[in-house]
Amino acid sequence: MRIALIRRLQRVFLILSVILFAGIVFLAARGAAYFLPGSIDRVNLITPTPERETVALVSGHTGFDSGAICGPSNAPTLREVEVVARVADLAREALEEAGLEVLFLEEYDERLTNLDTDLLLSLHADSCIAASGFKAASPLNSAIPTTEKRLIACINSHYSAHTGLAIHANSITHDMTYYHAFRKVLPTTPTAILELGFLGGDGKLLTEEPERVAAGVTESVMCFMRGEEASD
Ligand SMILES: [Zn+2]
Repeated sequence: MRIALIRRLQRVFLILSVILFAGIVFLAARGAAYFLPGSIDRVNLITPTPERETVALVSGHTGFDSGAICGPSNAPTLREVEVVARVADLAREALEEAGLEVLFLEEYDERLTNLDTDLLLSLHADSCIAASGFKAASPLNSAIPTTEKRLIACINSHYSAHTGLAIHANSITHDMTYYHAFRKVLPTTPTAILELGFLGGDGKLLTEEPERVAAGVTESVMCFMRGEEASD
């Protein structure tokens, strides 16, 4: 009598086990279906559109303020925003001619937020003091330090070669290394701010030879975009 009962219970457990096992197999198969060839084919049908490499240029202070102003306040001789805009515009033209997509941005452009481009370069000019030289800086807490180090090396090498200006490194300020746009773009977007020269000591070059200054910017960008390792 007891043995018969045990045998019946064994059979019930066996049947329950089979049902449970079948259920697990069914659910596992459904989960796996997401990775089966059917869905892979669907992904492959989306042909990636060939994208041109995109460079974002910030024309410093545009849409916000004048930046540095030189000369008497009632009759200023130089405004940073205008000097930079001329150079930025020429650099944009040259980069577009070189086949790049250029995103031209204002100082506090909304598009800076989560910007995902191959490069963001912000152009500014330094104060009206009688000093000379340029300098470039990337975020201090960079998420891509090797890439941004290469970017700065490209600028230091090519911008100086085209403009004849020396690096004025000891005046890299907190404003540069903690530049507002650095915190807005995606951490994977390589970025730098370039002070093109001093409105004071380099005013003549910046205003009378903007093509030469723009060529320095363009060649710096092209060096980076071509993946070159410049030695500064
Ligand atoms: Zn500025």
